Amino acid sequence: MFVYCDTAATTPLSKPAFEAMLPWLQTGYGNASSIYKMARDARRALEDARRMAASCLEVSHENLYFTSGGTEADNWAVKGAAELGGEARRHIVISAVEHHAVLHTAEYLKKKGHPVTILPVSGDGLLDPDTLRKALRPDTAVVSVIYANNEIGTLQPIAELARAVKETDGKILFHTDAVQAAGHIFVDITPDIDLLSVAAHKFGGPKGIGALYIRRGVKLPPLLHGGGHERGGRSGTENVAGAAGLAAALKFMTENRESFYKKTLASRDRLIDGILSAIPYSRLTGSREHRLPGSASFVFAAVEGESLVLQLDTLGVAASSGSACSSASLDPSHVLLAIGLSHEVAHGSLRLTIDHARTKDEMDFVIQSVKTAVERCRGMSPLWGGGAPLRMSGWE
Ligand SMILES: *Cc1c(COP(=O)(O)O)cnc(C)c1O
Repeated sequence: MFVYCDTAATTPLSKPAFEAMLPWLQTGYGNASSIYKMARDARRALEDARRMAASCLEVSHENLYFTSGGTEADNWAVKGAAELGGEARRHIVISAVEHHAVLHTAEYLKKKGHPVTILPVSGDGLLDPDTLRKALRPDTAVVSVIYANNEIGTLQPIAELARAVKETDGKILFHTDAVQAAGHIFVDITPDIDLLSVAAHKFGGPKGIGALYIRRGVKLPPLLHGGGHERGGRSGTENVAGAAGLAAALKFMTENRESFYKKTLASRDRLIDGILSAIPYSRLTGSREHRLPGSASFVFAAVEGESLVLQLDTLGVAASSGSACSSASLDPSHVLLAIGLSHEVAHGSLRLTIDHARTKDEMDFVIQSVKTAVERCRGMSPLWGGGAPLRMSGWE
């Protein structure tokens, strides 16, 4: 058996997305900015995709701009909003549990002279609106808070956080990275939200396409300069097949949202309960209650996350430790440290993320596999002995 448990890293292309893309990869390859019929057809497909995606997100198509993915959308939003603030507003506020696309963008801007505040979160990974309110300054340009965390699945009270910002100072722009949320749960794009990022490959669409929602009236300067595509917002030859795939995938997810949510949640709960009861010295990370339906994340005492992932691979389970992007580094994830875990405990992290297509049998197989893999890791660990961790730091 092989069970894919890494949908937070990427998802398989859904059938509706694949089918919607094919014509634009084969005969309909015209450049959507040219003027002959073939190109006009591509342009129509692009605009149809924009309308469909916008209608799924319940926003106007005029406010949706295609990008090359979530990373670009996040960079555009944060850098653009920082630039828009001018000399008077240079301060940037983010949470401590942002995706690297926002975190590293803020760090880059800090080097360029922007003051940056990184807000602490609770043990569940939640940002308190009062903490946010207190961090705002007269020179704050932009606040960026992740909608749903990619590592621990925690859902932020985004509407409330955006409200707190706007109540304090209507001129501060509010951005949210909704890459993990879009398609999976209802994403409430309230009037307080100025900017919102999505990425197709996290909801059954193709890689290399995403979108940034920009509220009407926000004159975000472009990140990429060139031919003035996307109404001057984002230059670069339009990815028509990608846009068609993004829209079809989002439509498929939106139409089936309730049933997919229920199925995913049932599997996810089976997984969490099964793992916590089968494996001693295991702990769920992130909020149990305010959580993405497909997210299960843990720490295990006296286990090294990377080894665990490799063990699981040999057993037929694709999983991740922390986020895929940070797997190359030895530092524990900034998200796990932000929720208060020690370096030692954070090193034993495992993330299992699933979609609606997973079955009970598959979940039972995954539980058994994680149990076996954890036992194998502990069997080789100098930190484990006599059925318990030898050093209890962080576990008492
Ligand atoms: C995957 C992801 C991104 C990056 O999106 P890409 O399309 O892979 O560039 C940004 N934010 C979050 C929360 C993500 O999960």
